[in-house]
Amino acid sequence: MKIPLIHSPSYELELQDTHKVMGNKSTTLYDAISATQWSEKFKTVTCNGVAPKDLTLAHDENYIDRFVNNHLSSSEMKLINLPWSTQLLHRSLLTPAGTFEAAKSALKTGVACHTAGGSHHAYRSFGYGFCVFNDMAYAALRLQQEKLVRRVLILDCDVHQGDGTIDICKNNPDIFTCSIHGGQYIGPKRMLGSLDVALPDGTGDAQYLSKLRDAIDVISNNFLPDIVIYDAGVDVHLNDRLGRLNITSDGIIARDLLVLSFFQERKIPVATVIGGGYGLDRTELINRHMLVFEAVAKLY
Ligand SMILES: [Zn+2]
Repeated sequence: MKIPLIHSPSYELELQDTHKVMGNKSTTLYDAISATQWSEKFKTVTCNGVAPKDLTLAHDENYIDRFVNNHLSSSEMKLINLPWSTQLLHRSLLTPAGTFEAAKSALKTGVACHTAGGSHHAYRSFGYGFCVFNDMAYAALRLQQEKLVRRVLILDCDVHQGDGTIDICKNNPDIFTCSIHGGQYIGPKRMLGSLDVALPDGTGDAQYLSKLRDAIDVISNNFLPDIVIYDAGVDVHLNDRLGRLNITSDGIIARDLLVLSFFQERKIPVATVIGGGYGLDRTELINRHMLVFEAVAKLY
C-alpha cells in the first residue's frame, strides 16, 4: 500500500524572501519530494479545509471568528507575526484538515506524511509565532470526537516548546504531549506538558538522541497511544536561523528513524508534520525538511 502524502497547492503564502517564514515551503518541498526516486512509495492525497466552526474543538469561538473576519487587533496579529491575507486564512483552515487527514490515513496505512503542519504555538484563544490554528491539537481532538482512537501522543521535536498544544490539550487525559526542545525558548506563557525535555544551547547529536531515547522510554512506560502525531521540526539543525542546538543532518535522520521505527515495531500508526525550519538558504532548508519523508520511505 502506498504511503499517503497529504498536500495542497493552497498552502502558499506570498511573503518577502527575507521573511523568516518561507511562503512557498510546502509546494517547494512537495516538488522536491516528487523529483526523488523514493517518491513512488507515496500517493498524493488532498483535502478541503475545515469549516471555522469545526475549530471550536481546539479554539475559542471568539478568536476563530475574529481571525476569519480579519478583526484581530494589530497586537494580536503581531504575536502571530504573519500579515493577514485570504491566503493565510485558506492555509490556516487547510492545515488542520491536512493533519487530521494524515492521522486518519495513518490509521489505515500505518504511516502518513503532511507537507505542512506543526502550528504548535497556536493557543486556545490566540495565535503566536507564525501559528494561527493548532493543527496537531485539532487533529488529536477530532480523532477522539469521531471515536477513531482514544489515546493520542503528540511528540513534538521542533526546537521550540509546543506550548500552544499543551495549552489546548492540558485537561485531556488521553492526549500525551511530549516536547523535546531548546530550553532557551520563552513563549508567551510558561507551559508544562505531559513530558517536557529542555535542552541546553549547543546540544549535539549524541546528547540529543540520548535524551530523545530517554523521553520515549518514559512515554512508553506511562502511556500507550493509539496513534502518534509526530512534529519533525528541523529547526534543531545547527545552521537553523532560529534554533540554538547543534544537530547535524545525520542527527535529524537518526532522530526520525528512531521515532518512526520505535512506533512501527509496536504497530502504532504515525502521522508526520513538518514543523519549523528557518534559513535563508532555501535549498538547504528544503533538504532538511525532506529527511523525514525519506526516513518514512526507507522504513515503510
Ligand atoms: Zn520551531
